[in-house]
Amino acid sequence: MLFGLHTGETLIVHLRMTGELRIHGPSDPDSVPAAIPVDKHTHVLFVLDTGEELHYRDTRKFGRIWLVEDVSEVVGKLGPEPLSEAFVPRILMQALEGRKANIKALLLNQTVVAGVGNIYADESLFHADIDPRRPGGGLTINEITRLHRALREVLQAGIEAQGSSLQNYAPPTGGKGGFQEQFQVFRRGGEPCFRCNTPISRIVLGQRSTHFCTTCQK
Ligand SMILES: [Zn+2]
Repeated sequence: MLFGLHTGETLIVHLRMTGELRIHGPSDPDSVPAAIPVDKHTHVLFVLDTGEELHYRDTRKFGRIWLVEDVSEVVGKLGPEPLSEAFVPRILMQALEGRKANIKALLLNQTVVAGVGNIYADESLFHADIDPRRPGGGLTINEITRLHRALREVLQAGIEAQGSSLQNYAPPTGGKGGFQEQFQVFRRGGEPCFRCNTPISRIVLGQRSTHFCTTCQK
């Protein structure tokens, strides 16, 4: 996650396995810090202009936080933000042109498009009816247009559902995300496809588990 600050710097937060960001309401100045649930796993506490607090908690401490002037120092060159206006089908087409790697690996490659992880890559390829093993450079214009739309729709649905709480992830307001209830293929290996009943396949591509329907995805 990249937070642009008014100083021009960027705060980079990588939650890794067990990191969580939580927003807490403005604390009562008379009862600080008792009003705010801070425990031994709360490592960083940001006080926001609104008076609210953003707490970084991490039980296993795999997470990382950086404050940088140039984001590329940490994340390298990033592809376009998939929900931005700049991300149009032509941009995706150019990024995939001539690429021999499979489309699943290319979607996870952050220089092609930023921020698409394993869940959203598998779900997007299902929504676009594209077999994850296909070489990226071999997709037709129609397929790329479908994939572009699927990426945006699946990411938007994930945001609206407040993410996927498979293990530790929790939205900043607490509770659980709900996107895991909408999974069509992710972690559904062996279970019937909701569309055609074919058992969902689970394979490993680019060292990542990959889930797809061999009937719906061509
Ligand atoms: Zn199917």
